[in-house]
Order: sequence, then structure tokens, then C-alpha cells
Amino acid sequence: MEGQWGSSIHEQHRQIQEAMKTNPTQGIAKIKEYLGKQNNTPLNIAITGETGSGKSTFINAFRGINNSDEGAAPTGVVETTTEVEPYPHPNLPNVTLWDLPGVGTPNFPADEYLKKVGFERFDFFIIIAACRFKENDVKLALEIKRMGRKFYFLCSKIDIDMYNEERSQRNFDKQKTLKAIRDNCIKGLRGQGIEAPQVFLVSSFELHQFDFLLLQETLERELPEHKRNAFVCALPNISKEIMKKKKDAYQAQIKYHALLSSGVAAVPLPGLSVAVDLALVAGVVTQYVIGFRLDKESLKRLSDSSGVPYSELVSVMTSQLGATTITPQLIQKLLSQIPRILALIAAEEVSRFLIVIGTPVSMILSGVSTYKILKFFLDLVADDAQRVFEKVVKETTEV
Ligand code: GDP
Repeated sequence: MEGQWGSSIHEQHRQIQEAMKTNPTQGIAKIKEYLGKQNNTPLNIAITGETGSGKSTFINAFRGINNSDEGAAPTGVVETTTEVEPYPHPNLPNVTLWDLPGVGTPNFPADEYLKKVGFERFDFFIIIAACRFKENDVKLALEIKRMGRKFYFLCSKIDIDMYNEERSQRNFDKQKTLKAIRDNCIKGLRGQGIEAPQVFLVSSFELHQFDFLLLQETLERELPEHKRNAFVCALPNISKEIMKKKKDAYQAQIKYHALLSSGVAAVPLPGLSVAVDLALVAGVVTQYVIGFRLDKESLKRLSDSSGVPYSELVSVMTSQLGATTITPQLIQKLLSQIPRILALIAAEEVSRFLIVIGTPVSMILSGVSTYKILKFFLDLVADDAQRVFEKVVKETTEV
């Protein structure tokens, strides 16, 4: 896709490969630019709906923040959003969720709404209601469409609806009931003039249930490709699929980090002829730990929301990378402690790397080492994230 970034990701990869062959210095500059864009692309998500519809609770849940945490969007039936309020993602400062006032409030009349909230800055809009979208919601959706932006309808508090339906139906069928609620909502929106409304039924208290995963897949698919990375990394770890996507996103960057590391400030590794840029590795592994929410703050938040003691979350991790500060010294210590990784680095697996990158021979050895080390640490961190996830599922679903 051509756009403000000039060329597609595929085209950028091609340009990097080309530059690495002809002019490595320029190639390195291109890689830096590419990684910077991948990891710092701003993503701004607008959440709008009437007061009480569940905007703040959804914003907090998406960011993995509890309603009572510092930095949480204030929730509760009496709170009223009267201003456009930004809520940055605690782990990724480039991702912000915005709490917008409801349409038609005195300061934000329907006809001036988009202009007043500054619609240009938002990548897409989520319009929230407790399953009954009103005239103002529809007007807003049509206006968003007219402005060339995307919108998605989110029926909040679906757990309450399901609870009520279960109590009132003799032969309660969860899937059938969900479909009936969704169909009914879509029919209502069609009747009000929205051609093909995308409606998702969500409980912010149970994001892993109902349609949140479907919403996440839809958003990921419909976002421009240069924004997908930011979106995937911002997602809460509520399913194995999400964690796999995060891992894939990080994996795709490893060859470029490895190239950057080639020859720069490298430290010889004991027992090996290669040198590795430990500071770079420490920086990238820190990204993994934060992306997989294994940093101290994220684990504390997870402990608060799940009720699983922090020490128990920490105890299931085996990598020694979670809940700590990743320094070059720690990386060096871990590398020297793990014979498996040293064997891995020493093994001749240069050809695959060479084909991917097309790099001058002088840069290869330390690049290959960094490649393998990063891949190794990524596996460790992703496995730990999986263990933490399983621990929480086990502890919170056991009766
Ligand atoms: P806002 O005014 O749109 O920001 O709405 P809030 O997020 O403050 O939510 C209003 C009330 O609905 C609060 O008491 C929330 O606890 C409750 N609420 C929000 N989302 C959900 C949900 O998914 N399920 C349930 N059961 N309650 C919710």
C-alpha cells in the first residue's frame, strides 16, 4: 500500500536488501528507520458512546489496567466524560486510547462532533452502547464514514445480557442467544441506515469471552499494514493466538536487529570466536518482556486483576528475564550459563541468514550470533508468557 509511509513493508524490505548489497551504511540507516517506524508508529483509537455505556471500563481492560489503578480512566455510573481524554497504553507510549464524550452532549452537538473531537488524529472509532444504539450513534457512524474513517459497533456489558437470558430461558443456548442479540442489533442499525454494520458483543470484565477476539482480528485485518505491529503489541495477553501473533511480529524483526548489531560495540563471548552487541540484545529483549507483559508493573496489574499472587506469577517463569531490569550484564551472564545457546551460536547455520539478508561477509558472524540469541530469548520470553497465561487461567477457572 502506498501512503504517508511512501512504500509498502514488502517494498521497504526489498529496499533494505538492495542497499545492504550495494551500500551497507545506507542499508543500516534504512533498517534503523524501518524498525523505528515499526515500533513507534502512533496508533490512536477513539472510543465513543453515551456516559455509562462502558467506555472507560473497556479502555482500562484493553490496556490491561484495573479500574482502580493509577492512570485508569475513571469509571462508575456518575462519571461523565466532558472532554476528549487521552489514555496512553502503559506499555507502549505510541498507542493511545481516547475517551470521547457522547454525541449530543451540550459541548459536543451532533453536527459539530467530529470537528470538535479532532477526528483526523484517530485511526478508527469504536462506538459503544449497551446493545441499543441510538439515533446519535448512527448519525455519528454515518459522519465518520463520510470523513473516510472506519467505525465498529461494540455492544458492551454482554455478560449482563447473557446472565439475564440464562435466567429467563428454559433451554438456554449460549451461541444461539449471542447470535440472536447480534442479529437484532445489526437489524436495528440497518433499519437506521447503516448498510453493513460490524457489531461485536463484548464484556470488558471477560475480554477473552464473546466477540473481543473477533473484533481484534477484524481491526488487525482492516488497519493499514504499518499500524498492525503497534496494534498487535498493544493487545492484552488474553489468548494463545494473540501471544502467537506477538511472537510472529517480533520474530519478523530479528533479522534486522541482527544486521544492526553487526560489528557495532560488540563484546566477545567467552568460549566463542564471535562478538555480540549485548546492549542491543538487552534493548530488544526488554521490548519482548514489555510486549509480553512480563515486566514488574504489568505482572502486578495482572496479579491485582486476576487475584493470583504476584509471587506465584513470578514463580512460573523460568527465563530469569521477567520482573527484572534487562541489562547487558544480565544478558552476558545468562548466555554464559546456558550451554545450549552457546552450542546454538557455534553451529553453522549461516546460509539461511545470508539468503534473507544478502550481507557482506565481514558482518555475518556477529549478525548470525545476534540472530540466534534474539530468537532464543524470544522463545524463552514467549514460553514464560504462555506459562503465566496458563497459570492465571488455571487459578481463575478452578472451582
Ligand atoms: P462510561 O461512562 O461510558 O465510561 O462507562 P463506565 O466504564 O464508567 O461504566 C459504567 C458502569 O458499567 C460501571 O459501573 C462499570 O463497572 C459497568 N460496566 C462497564 N463495562 C461493563 C461490562 O462489560 N460488564 C459489566 N457487567 N459491567 C460493565
